[in-house]
Amino acid sequence: MTYKRKKYHYGDTHLQKRWRTKRRKKDLDEIDEDLKDENAKKLLNQDIDLDKPGNAQFYCLHCARYFISDQALKEHFRTKVHKRRLKALELEPYTIEESERAAGKGSYQVAKKRKIETQTSHEGTNAMEDDAGNSE
Ligand SMILES: [Zn+2]
Repeated sequence: MTYKRKKYHYGDTHLQKRWRTKRRKKDLDEIDEDLKDENAKKLLNQDIDLDKPGNAQFYCLHCARYFISDQALKEHFRTKVHKRRLKALELEPYTIEESERAAGKGSYQVAKKRKIETQTSHEGTNAMEDDAGNSE
């Protein structure tokens, strides 16, 4: 059996597609920037953007993701992905390796672990923190 026609024209659309997508995830250090007050305010009060899910009105700062509704955003806050992300951000911008190295030197200040909290939702309907099992 022979192939009727060879794929002469593969093209490079598969490559272009990869570059075209805006799916590139933000790195933690970029998100770290986003968490700074003035940036956070901007991101949480974005202009309506019809190209974004939920018109860019429901954004999770920590995960750099848009959600379609306040409900979806709140649900997201309760997911493991989100909580894991908060933990990861608490350690940023210092890597664990780095803080261990610093600890070994004694006189160095150990990287302070920051407390990262979920942003409050737009509606402000008691966004209760429900991770009580979070022992320090
Ligand atoms: Zn999140």
